[in-house]
Amino acid sequence: MSATTDDARTRMRNQMVERQVRARGVEDPRVLQAMRDTPRDRFVPSRLADLAYEDAPLPIEEGQTISQPYIVGLMLEAAHIKSSDRVLEIGAGSGYAAAVMSLLAKEVLAIERFPSLVALAQARLEALDRANVSVIQGDGTLGAADHAPFDAIIVSAGAPEVPPSLLAQLAIGGRLVIPVGHDARSQELVVIEKTADHHFDRRSLGHVQFVPLVGTEGWTSEGAAVAMRRSSLDLRLGSRDRAKIARVIADSCEPFSDVRHAPLDPILRRIGQSRIVLIGESTHGTSEFYRLRARITAALVARAGFKVIGIEADWPDTAAVDRTVRKRPASPLREPMYARFPTWMWRNAEMQEFVSWLARRNATLDPAARAGIHGLDVYGLNNSIGAVIDYLARVDPFAAEQARERYACFSPWERDPSVWGRAAAVGLAPTCEHEAVATLKSLLEERLRYSRDDGDAFFDAARSATVVGEAEKYYRAMYRSSRESWNIRDRHMFETLMALLEHRGSDTRAVIWAHNSHVGNAAATEMGAHGEINLGQLVRERFGNQAYLIGFGTDQGTVAAATNWDAPMEVKEIRPSHEDSYERILHEACRMLPAPSNAFFLPLRAAHALPARTELLHPRLERAIGVVYRPETELVSHYFEATLPAQFDEYIWIDRTTAVLPTDAPPTGEYESEAARSQAGVDAIPDTYPFGL
Ligand code: SAH
Repeated sequence: MSATTDDARTRMRNQMVERQVRARGVEDPRVLQAMRDTPRDRFVPSRLADLAYEDAPLPIEEGQTISQPYIVGLMLEAAHIKSSDRVLEIGAGSGYAAAVMSLLAKEVLAIERFPSLVALAQARLEALDRANVSVIQGDGTLGAADHAPFDAIIVSAGAPEVPPSLLAQLAIGGRLVIPVGHDARSQELVVIEKTADHHFDRRSLGHVQFVPLVGTEGWTSEGAAVAMRRSSLDLRLGSRDRAKIARVIADSCEPFSDVRHAPLDPILRRIGQSRIVLIGESTHGTSEFYRLRARITAALVARAGFKVIGIEADWPDTAAVDRTVRKRPASPLREPMYARFPTWMWRNAEMQEFVSWLARRNATLDPAARAGIHGLDVYGLNNSIGAVIDYLARVDPFAAEQARERYACFSPWERDPSVWGRAAAVGLAPTCEHEAVATLKSLLEERLRYSRDDGDAFFDAARSATVVGEAEKYYRAMYRSSRESWNIRDRHMFETLMALLEHRGSDTRAVIWAHNSHVGNAAATEMGAHGEINLGQLVRERFGNQAYLIGFGTDQGTVAAATNWDAPMEVKEIRPSHEDSYERILHEACRMLPAPSNAFFLPLRAAHALPARTELLHPRLERAIGVVYRPETELVSHYFEATLPAQFDEYIWIDRTTAVLPTDAPPTGEYESEAARSQAGVDAIPDTYPFGL
C-alpha cells in the first residue's frame, strides 16, 4: 500500500483535479494548476496517504479534518486570488489549503487553533519550499489586525455567524469565503465582497459541512463539543440524501434471502487468489454471522485449499479443538475449554456444526492436507501456563520443573490476571516479565531437539509460552492505557497468524474470524485516528490486495451479549440503527430490494463496485456490539466514526438477525450422533455441507 510511487500519486492527483474538481464546475485554470502542483498526500497522516486522492474529506490529527478537494477548489475559485494578493486563512488544519493558496497569492498568513497542527503544517509547507506562507497559532475568529487589510480571507471552519473582525479586516474589493450557519451539521458557504467601507455584497455557493470554528467570535467550546461529535461524523455529507445513496447500494449489491441459500460463487470469485481472508462480525452473538461465515470458510477450505482458520479465541483452548479436528493426540487443559467469559462465543450450536464438519472432512485427508483451527487471542494465561508445563513434562522433565518455578510468579493471581495486572502496574506485585521471557527462550533454544518427534506439539507449546509472555504485558498495559493494551493484543494476533503461516508452509492460505473492529482496517476509523492499530490493518500492510477484508452488519433483531463484563449472557434486542449510521443506509437499501431479500453481499473494492464505494466514502457512524451490549447508551458506547469502503473490501448485510444458540458443551468435533446433535439444537448437517443447498 504505502509503496505507491510518486508517479502514481501524480497521476492520481491529476485525475482528482479532472474528475472531482473540474468536472463539478471549478474552471479557474490557476486554481486547477495549483491543485495539480500540491501533493495532498503529504498533508494527511501517513497511514491515510493512499486515500489522499479519494473524493472525500479525511481525518487529521486533533480530531480535525482536511477538506474534500472539491470544496478547496470551490472556495479558492470564489476568492478570486490574484498573484499580488495578501491572503488570510482561518483554520490552517493540515496546511493543505494554505499550500494551494501559496501558489496563487503573494503572501499567505494562516491561523490555527491547535499548536500541534501548527507545527505539522509548518513542517509540511517548509518541506515543499512554500516560503510565502506563515502559519501561526491563535484564535482566528479575531483575524490578524496587525497584518490587515487582506485581499482575501478564507475560513476553513464553520461559523455560527460571520465574525465582525474579519469583515473589518477585508480590503475594499476584498473577498471573504466562509461557511456560516447555526446548525453545526450544515452550513451555507458564502462569499462576501467588501464594495466600500461598511458595504458588502453576499452570494451563496450552497450547503457544506465543516468542523466548527471555535473562538471569541465563533462557537463556544462547549457548544462546539456537542456539535462536534455529529459534525465530524457525517461531515460534508452535504445535501446527498440517504435514499439516493441507498438506491445506489440496492442497485449494486447481490441480494439473498437467507444464509443457507446465499450463493457463494461471486464472493469466492472476488476473493480470487487472496492469501488471507478476514471475516469480521459487528456483534459477538449473531447466529447468521456465524453460519454464513462458516459456509464461506468451508468453501474456502474445500474448494480453495485454505489450511489455517484463525479465530478470536484463546490459543490453548482452540489447540484442543484443533487436536480433535486434525486427529492429533489429545492433551489435557487446566481449565475446561472455553469456560471463561464470554462462553457463548465458542460454546454454541453454530460452532459445533462447523467443527463437526471440519473433523469429518479432515478424516478423509492426509495429515498435511488437513485444515487446522487456532486461537489468535492473548487471553488464556492459565491454560497456556498449563500447556507449556505439561508439554515439557513429556519431553524434558527437568525443563518442566524450571518452567513451573518460573511461572509460580503468576500463581497468586492465576484466578484473575487482570487484578494482578493492576497490582503489577502500580508496583504492588512483582512483574513476571523476566520469568515469562526466560521460559519462552529456553523452549525455543531446544527447538531442534523438542520438535524432532512432533513438530505440531512443539509449535503448540511455543505458542502457549508466547501467549504467557504477551498476556503478561497485556494485563499490565490494561491499567496504563486501553490503547496500548489493544495494540499489544492485535499485534499478538498478527504475529500468531504469521507464525501459523510459517508453520504450515510458505503458500498456506488463511481465514480469520474476529470482530469487525479487529478485521476492518483501523486506519479508516476513529480508533485509528487515536493511535490504535489492528489485525486488519497489519494484514493489509503486509499483504496488500492479497488480503480480502470482509465485514458483517445488521440493523435489528436479537443478539447474545452480557450487560457487564463477566455477567451472564442474555438475549438482547438490538435497537434499529441510528439515522447517521452506515447501518441505516444499508437497511434502507435492503428495503428497496424485491422481497424476500433480507440480506446482501456488497462488494466495495473500486474494481468491483465503484459507484457504491464512492457513495459510501463519506465518514459516518458505524455500530460495534461486542460481548457487552448496552442498548440504553448505544450512541456513545457502541457507535464510532469510520469510512466503510476504506475499512473493508466487502460488507455482508443481514437486515434482521437472531442470537446464537449457546450450548453447555464446547465444540469438540465429536457430535456425530443425531441424538447429540439435536440435543445441541443443530439441524442434521448434510454430508455435503456447505454445498448441500
Ligand atoms: N484548511 C484545512 C482544513 C482544516 S479543518 C486543511 O486544508 O486541512 C478546520 C481547522 O480550523 C481545524 O484544524 C480547527 O482546529 C481550526 N479552527 C477552528 N476554530 C479556529 C479558530 N478560532 N482559529 C483558528 N483555527 C480554528
